[in-house]
Amino acid sequence: MWTQHWPLSELRDVDRAARKIIVENGGKHPASLTSLLYLPREKGGRGLRSVEHEYKITKIKSLLKLYQNPDPTVEAVREFEEHAMASGHQSLVKEAAKYAEELNITLQLDTLNPVCVTTDGKVVTAARAGNLLKQSQEKQFLESAKDKKWQGKLFRIRWEDESLSIANCFAWLKGWATCPTHTIAGMYELYEQLLPTKLYTKEKTQTSTDGEVLCRLCGKVAESVAHVLAGCSSLAQTKYLYRHNAALKILFLSSCESMG
Ligand SMILES: [Zn+2]
Repeated sequence: MWTQHWPLSELRDVDRAARKIIVENGGKHPASLTSLLYLPREKGGRGLRSVEHEYKITKIKSLLKLYQNPDPTVEAVREFEEHAMASGHQSLVKEAAKYAEELNITLQLDTLNPVCVTTDGKVVTAARAGNLLKQSQEKQFLESAKDKKWQGKLFRIRWEDESLSIANCFAWLKGWATCPTHTIAGMYELYEQLLPTKLYTKEKTQTSTDGEVLCRLCGKVAESVAHVLAGCSSLAQTKYLYRHNAALKILFLSSCESMG
């Protein structure tokens, strides 16, 4: 084999183990979107690399290199791989084509001039393939985040809100490289509405004992993060700064309650 072969299930286990360490050390809320971890920080992700996806991209790049190289020794390897594929054995050609397909890219393997073709017909040379693969990968993580039922809805609304610029929203995350992990995790709990409000404990974690969802302050509307931060009539009558302090206080109290 021209490149090392790894079973995907083992690579997924490595990714899973890495995520587990992050969650156990408070770097990520257990219910927070997994695919967000793998988006770049400027797009609201955490910039983590997935071993499985890096492996797949390496395979595709290796195949493109194999077809680009005019060296006679490499030509022999190329023939070996093509022969392996024709006789139904495991081959780099087959694997890489499959991984490219997952990213909606078709590989056209003309000798010395292999290209990638996107679904909208754009032809990208092997030299620029790295960028294309990276972008397609990002798109895949983004779509999978938007597809999720509860978190995906919040994420999608924020992403599609024209009054918000995603680049500005996450400028703090991109520019502040040494930001403490717990600060980021806390901000994400706000973004993803994972704070233990009454609505959250009843609907999401189902740990509410009385099933009551009405706001502890006004008693009129369901207590959600959005309500506490911006909609509560009891808090709205107070001054701006006080309102925010009170909102934080209620969130703090409810998190203490939920911890018992
Ligand atoms: Zn209220």
